[in-house]
Amino acid sequence: EFAQISLKDIDDVAKSSFPLCMRHLFEKLREDHHLKHGGRMQLGLFLKGVGLKLDDALAFWKAEFSRKVGAERFDKEYSYGIRHNYGREGKRTDYTPYSCQKIISSTPGVGDHHGCPYRNFSEENLRAALNKMGVTGRAVGDVMDKVRNRHYQLACTLTFEAVHGSSCDAGINHPNQYFSDSQKIMQ
Ligand code: SF4
Repeated sequence: EFAQISLKDIDDVAKSSFPLCMRHLFEKLREDHHLKHGGRMQLGLFLKGVGLKLDDALAFWKAEFSRKVGAERFDKEYSYGIRHNYGREGKRTDYTPYSCQKIISSTPGVGDHHGCPYRNFSEENLRAALNKMGVTGRAVGDVMDKVRNRHYQLACTLTFEAVHGSSCDAGINHPNQYFSDSQKIMQ
């Protein structure tokens, strides 16, 4: 079972316990007040998986998108997709958050921020992102070695270990697993 998060804690929790793929989407959303469809799906389902309730999810997305497109357009064009992710629209499927494998194999286009940063970032951007997460020194080189060998999930596992100062023997295979393992250590 995934832990629950509330809206008021979301920025702290994003900093402490989101894997890089979700941190990146979260920061871009806060910065641009917008995410394209692939990003809304990847982050939206992740947030659902970490226990953000539908009402909180709507408030969270609306607060950002309103600043870009206005509240009315948000209600008209974007709220449907969020309710849809929660199984409240369309076929009422309860969609599950994406696994690492699915995220790594996605092909983000220009202006997209979804996908796995270990695969998609330039070396320079990845180093900067790792430093921002508190990964420094030799740990950065170890992560970059895994990336060069295309072992993206191992790179993410090493990041987890460096950030938390704790081993992750099972390895990272799902962003929501990264989150729940992190929360276990934090609490
Ligand atoms: Fe996200 Fe998985 Fe990539 Fe880590 S390995 S950044 S959890 S997709």
